[in-house]
Amino acid sequence: MPKTVIVLGGGIGGMSAAHELVERGFSVRVLERRDVPGGKARSVVVPSTVPVQNVGAVYLGRLTAPTRRDLPGEHGFRFFPRFYKHIIDTMARTPYRGSRSVAENLVDTTGTIFARFGRRALKLPTTTPSTVPELFTLVTDLESLYGTELGISPEDFAFFGERIWQILTSCSERRLDEYEKIGWWDFIGAADRSEAYQKFFGIGPTRSLVAAQARVASTKTIGDLGVQLLFNLSEPAISTDRVLNGPTNDVWIDPWLAYLRERGVDYQLNTRVHSIEMDGGVVGGVTVEHDGVITELHADYYVSALPIDVMATIVTDQVVRADPRLADIFQLSKNTAWMNGIQFYLDVDVPIGRGHQLYVDSPWALTSVSQAQFWSDVDLSRFGDGNIRGVISVVISDWDAPGLNGKPARECTRAEIRDEVWDQLARSLNVQGARVLDYQDLVHWYLDLDVDPLLKSNAEPMFVNLVDTWRLRPQPVTAIPNLFLAADYVQTVTDLATMEAANEAARRAVNGILEHSGSDASPCRLWNLHEPELLEPWRANDRARYLRGLPWDDTGVRLGLSALAALYSGSRALEDSIVNAVSSATHVEDLLTYLRTGESRSDLLQRLTSEPGAPSFDLLRAFAALTRATGSPVSSLATSTLEALSSTGRDLPKPQVSRIAPGSVRFVEP
Ligand SMILES: Cc1cc2nc3c(=O)[nH]c(=O)nc-3n(C[C@H](O)[C@H](O)[C@H](O)COP(=O)(O)OP(=O)(O)OC[C@H]3O[C@@H](n4cnc5c(N)ncnc54)[C@H](O)[C@@H]3O)c2cc1C
Repeated sequence: MPKTVIVLGGGIGGMSAAHELVERGFSVRVLERRDVPGGKARSVVVPSTVPVQNVGAVYLGRLTAPTRRDLPGEHGFRFFPRFYKHIIDTMARTPYRGSRSVAENLVDTTGTIFARFGRRALKLPTTTPSTVPELFTLVTDLESLYGTELGISPEDFAFFGERIWQILTSCSERRLDEYEKIGWWDFIGAADRSEAYQKFFGIGPTRSLVAAQARVASTKTIGDLGVQLLFNLSEPAISTDRVLNGPTNDVWIDPWLAYLRERGVDYQLNTRVHSIEMDGGVVGGVTVEHDGVITELHADYYVSALPIDVMATIVTDQVVRADPRLADIFQLSKNTAWMNGIQFYLDVDVPIGRGHQLYVDSPWALTSVSQAQFWSDVDLSRFGDGNIRGVISVVISDWDAPGLNGKPARECTRAEIRDEVWDQLARSLNVQGARVLDYQDLVHWYLDLDVDPLLKSNAEPMFVNLVDTWRLRPQPVTAIPNLFLAADYVQTVTDLATMEAANEAARRAVNGILEHSGSDASPCRLWNLHEPELLEPWRANDRARYLRGLPWDDTGVRLGLSALAALYSGSRALEDSIVNAVSSATHVEDLLTYLRTGESRSDLLQRLTSEPGAPSFDLLRAFAALTRATGSPVSSLATSTLEALSSTGRDLPKPQVSRIAPGSVRFVEP
């Protein structure tokens, strides 16, 4: 008999858990309160947008097929950064129309637009420029960044660059221990700098990272993810950002649900979970309501993929007694914000830009994507009244700041929200004489029905990572032996409430079930965030400093690497000895002494070999790679992160290590 699992909630976390479990032979039932799958990632049909004559008719006693569909709406548009691994892997394992997978429905974007009220927009590519015009555009935009146009001084640019460099070269232990407790706003010194600096480096990037708020988001979260985006950008011809090529449920969620059901998952819509029933120290069942009937359901394991606000209503005293850490869910559940979409349907296509737009001057923190250009296989004339040619999908991330109309979005009627959002978009796009948006072209609009302006409520607030909350977030594997968590708020490497985090959490939850049940199925694959090999010497140095209680400071490693480079090019024989001798990043300081004092090479070697310590091959590997890539000492590279990344990072040859054993490491020319 297969072990049974009940998954509470059918969003990305719940569907991902079901996917991994059913493929490993478990009997899975998913309970979802809505009549649509996908949770916050879902797209929806905008009710009653097909004129009556097109909804199908009774003809000779048979119902004819409707010629058109209701307009495609969504809770909020989707963004799939290149560093996503977990959710993309699941998508690649989800069939689409026979031989394809839903992952093939992802389309690269080419640029992000930072739009400003009444002024030229800044366009940044999401791929490294590969043509002369692209390069020219980038250089022109960067020139204006460095110039006075943006209002950011060269000193402030340099200061921000140093902050980014600090994150890049900090070890993970320091990020978790120290940077988690520092707000991004404070880390980048935003309070003391210009409004433009605050918008471009504080508010703008955090907004694009899903409702993270610069003033309260942790430096660890924003820094870790910023590093991922930066490194994706350094890979030529690869876009950092992707979107789907059609409405989310059409091209992803519905095919996924079909696959899960085909594999045997019992995914029940319109089924609300009321409570978790404890039986001693374990979950004994869940009470659910379907069609007005209340029943208790039982399984061997329970995976809660409910959002934090709902989870807080079903965690009882008995649950907390069985796992006291789950009491933090009550405090965490206050960390939510409103983030909802509004779509504008136009009778012309307004491509704006092939990617996302960030409206840096918009008080309501708007971002958008113009969808028709990505929906190549979607015939928009088959939706609504047949006249739709363009869809601008907008997300409102700040519902508390007063708009241009003087009111926060929370206080506005639906029509006021429509008008105010349109106004903020138009002021950002209709600049320098251009008329990108024209109200005459607006045929229809849809504001997410989760928002109820009359009740001033939001049915699905979004979890946001606040500073110093990592310690409050539960792990996917709880102390209750048959309860696991698979949602965006739990501790994951991704560490930001996203589809990627929900999927990663689900995999960790399933791995917990595999372990507990003694299953011999292979565990779900997990990925770490990418940490560039190129900067490992700096991180190793920082780790050594962190362990000795010292603050971040990369002076030693910069000089130390230069010394190593000089030694390397001086003598291969000496290199062999050093490779064998240098065993920890702390030896960088020995090398520094050599540089400063003019100590002889043999004395240095003597000193290094006298205390081998723990091996650190990464330091040497990165050093060797760097020196081979540049043929020169490293210090010139180390002066600028971006310079180093763009000039050497991408073509970095990977030296082969013939044998790895303490005392016998040797680099072989690639
Ligand atoms: C506007 C907006 C835009 C976003 N854009 C992006 C993006 O571009 N990229 C990205 O990666 N992330 C994005 N996110 C974040 C992402 O959508 C979420 O982090 C992710 O979908 C969360 O998945 P989840 O399964 O943890 O939770 P949810 O999606 O909230 O799923 C929980 C499920 O549980 C169901 N449920 C709730 N209560 C009950 C109950 N009592 N009984 C049964 N079922 C219940 C819900 O209906 C829902 O289906 C966005 C979020 C928003 C709000």
